[in-house]
Amino acid sequence: MTQTVALSQGRTYLAIPGPSVMPDAVLQAMHRPSPNIYDGELIDMMPGLTRDLCRVAGTKHNVAIYIANGHGTWEAALSNVIAPGETVLAPASGRFTHGWAEMAEGIGAKVQLIDFGTSSAWDFDRIADALRADRNHQIKAVLAVHVDTSSSIRNDIPALRRLLDDLQHPALLMADCIASLGCDRFEMDGWGVDVTVAACQKGLMTPAGIGFVFFNEKAQTKRATMPRVSHYWDWQPRANPDLFYQYFNGTAPTHHLYGLRAALDLIHAEGIEQVWARHERLANAIWAACETWAEGGMLYLNVADRAFRSHAVTALRLTEGRGTALRTFTETRLGLTLGIGLGMEDYDSCFRLGHMGHINGQMVMAILGGVETGMAALDISRGKGALEAAAAVLAA
Ligand SMILES: *Cc1c(COP(=O)(O)O)cnc(C)c1O
Repeated sequence: MTQTVALSQGRTYLAIPGPSVMPDAVLQAMHRPSPNIYDGELIDMMPGLTRDLCRVAGTKHNVAIYIANGHGTWEAALSNVIAPGETVLAPASGRFTHGWAEMAEGIGAKVQLIDFGTSSAWDFDRIADALRADRNHQIKAVLAVHVDTSSSIRNDIPALRRLLDDLQHPALLMADCIASLGCDRFEMDGWGVDVTVAACQKGLMTPAGIGFVFFNEKAQTKRATMPRVSHYWDWQPRANPDLFYQYFNGTAPTHHLYGLRAALDLIHAEGIEQVWARHERLANAIWAACETWAEGGMLYLNVADRAFRSHAVTALRLTEGRGTALRTFTETRLGLTLGIGLGMEDYDSCFRLGHMGHINGQMVMAILGGVETGMAALDISRGKGALEAAAAVLAA
């Protein structure tokens, strides 16, 4: 009998949908003493940083930066444009839309939630019905999660914009791009998005801790009608500071700014179109492997239609559970951490692969090889040739 040997020494790998793998350039940029926060390099860095952030989001408008995770930016965005008692519409394709909707309730908004479950993209007929029924425009914003990281569904934001325009509904279009910025194509101005929220620890490859709210003139006009806005969340001074400390309403997240600068340099050196193309090709390799495994009948992709799959995260389902056992095996025996099933009906029958940000072909093959090994160890029936299928996509 073969002896059990742990094979997890060596560099471990975090294949979860955020935080993502940090590039050495980001880590090295952060490894420094505390900088001068009154003048010099850090202060001089800010205009370029905000400009480059806006480039990644595809906007010529404004960005406010917060020392917060994604949840913080949800509340920040809402606090600037939604007054207590106002209504928001939340079309949900997974747990994260519910989370944003709960945040809206928490600041006193009325939430109209349309639940599409955990495996379906938006049904525009149902969204249209809700907007049409809203004759006197009580709905002030639509909370649109671009990629719902729990289900890995990627929703069609431009189609939602067209629908709002066709129905001449004035609600703000607010997009959560926390899992898609720097991974999936997103063009804030081109797509007519009014408010975009994002955070730094996914496609932007920086440790969790800062988040962004991008907003246009239409959102700014709504902001101006608010009876009051929380002083801390107010995006106005952050986006148009007279003094450095106003960017952050207090002490700057000094090291995060250096890390983010390095990450934006990587993105711009590669080119955003190429970044999107890389994520798409790598996702295609992952899907090819998963679709091959699915032939064994015990594993399948949560999102059936490729057109609605995120290029940054893939949610998988196991017909007979054992997701926890699989993740435990890959982590303890191989040094590969997989994402938990989040917000699904049955936690143990789902797991996720994160493939966002600093990721290349050999990393994808390592993730797939780890999952293949885990399924072999657990005797999970699967189609043969998954890694060959992925290799063929990468080799093409
Ligand atoms: C990760 C994520 C969030 C939450 O971000 P935190 O930084 O964990 O608060 C919200 N929305 C989406 C789509 C996400 O992927």
